[in-house]
Amino acid sequence: MVTRVQDRLFLSAPHMGGDELPLVQDVFATNWIAPTGPMVTRFEENLAALTGINHVAALSSGTAALHLALRLSGIKAGDEVWGSTMTFIGGVAPIMYANATPVFLDIEGEQFLLDLDLLEQELEQARTPGGLPKVVITTDLYGHVIDATRMRRLADDYGFVWISDAAEAVGAARDGVHAGKGADFAILSFNGNKIITTSGGGALASDRGDMIEQARFLSTQARDAAPHYEHTTYGYNYRLSNVCAAIGVGQLQVLEKRVEQRRRINDWYREALGDLPGFSFSPEPRGMHANRWLTTVRIAPALAGTDRERIRLGLEAENIESRPLWKPMHLQPVFAEAPRRGGAVAQEAFEQGLCLPSGSAMTHDDVMRVADLVRQLAGH
Ligand SMILES: *Cc1c(COP(=O)(O)O)cnc(C)c1O
Repeated sequence: MVTRVQDRLFLSAPHMGGDELPLVQDVFATNWIAPTGPMVTRFEENLAALTGINHVAALSSGTAALHLALRLSGIKAGDEVWGSTMTFIGGVAPIMYANATPVFLDIEGEQFLLDLDLLEQELEQARTPGGLPKVVITTDLYGHVIDATRMRRLADDYGFVWISDAAEAVGAARDGVHAGKGADFAILSFNGNKIITTSGGGALASDRGDMIEQARFLSTQARDAAPHYEHTTYGYNYRLSNVCAAIGVGQLQVLEKRVEQRRRINDWYREALGDLPGFSFSPEPRGMHANRWLTTVRIAPALAGTDRERIRLGLEAENIESRPLWKPMHLQPVFAEAPRRGGAVAQEAFEQGLCLPSGSAMTHDDVMRVADLVRQLAGH
């Protein structure tokens, strides 16, 4: 099939606010093209203000941020890193860079977040010499936010490093606290399809200034203070460029609007499709302010008389992009040997769940076009 890019409705297209280009022009005018520069600092300060997390290092991607967080957690080859099975590969692959062992835990079925009852139960059972994980990663999937109070308590009680993968949750909060706050490390992403983008980029945030200082050091090739290149350890080339940071500064100015727009799109879908038998949307628990990065719908075939794959193909035929929920990591061929804990909640969510086009530039008409098509495809 020929894909017409021009009039294709994407899952989540970049959406500039207007100030990004003048900010990039500033960067050009001062020739701060590379390496880092004042726009990077400004972006980091703005991110700290947004999240309430005291220190932030702007990086080339969210994946790079997780890699640094794992390195700074001090994990060694063979150490266990526990995390939610339902996530994107970038939230897991760095465990492999570190030659550590990922252990995949199941989720709860409404917000698709790590099942904290299961986590607590598994931690309790693992309370043997050497049995506890060194690191636990939570993933704020689709902009839903994990219970930070409970996670902090578990991290303190069981002595693990808590890394919050908030790559999809920029601008989301729970009980008035931004996603990732309270964790030892928080990961943010500004990849092209996220709620705001620097065209490609990420950040590592922590309340510990020494950790972020170390992250800046490691992300710029671990160069010791010397006139020549001197290295007592090895690092990475993971810093965000000043050009990309300028885009980020502009995008942060419209983040609040973007969250409102995505939340409204989520409401429109719910109103248009919520009455269909077998169709259900993620509720928003009390206190949670999800950014609704992507609106997801679950389609239970027995009740709906259709399934997510038929809907997906029907939308695709109209040049509308949708995508199954993230395929759980324990079902990925690359992790066939990895230990897993819990039941089949994630697997069922994957089989039934579909991400609908949710870009913040979508109009009410755009959403209704998708929703009407879904109704038709479902035979209503
Ligand atoms: C996007 C994403 C990442 C990776 O971020 P990049 O900036 O694309 O490297 C990690 N985890 C999750 C959950 C993501 O959605």
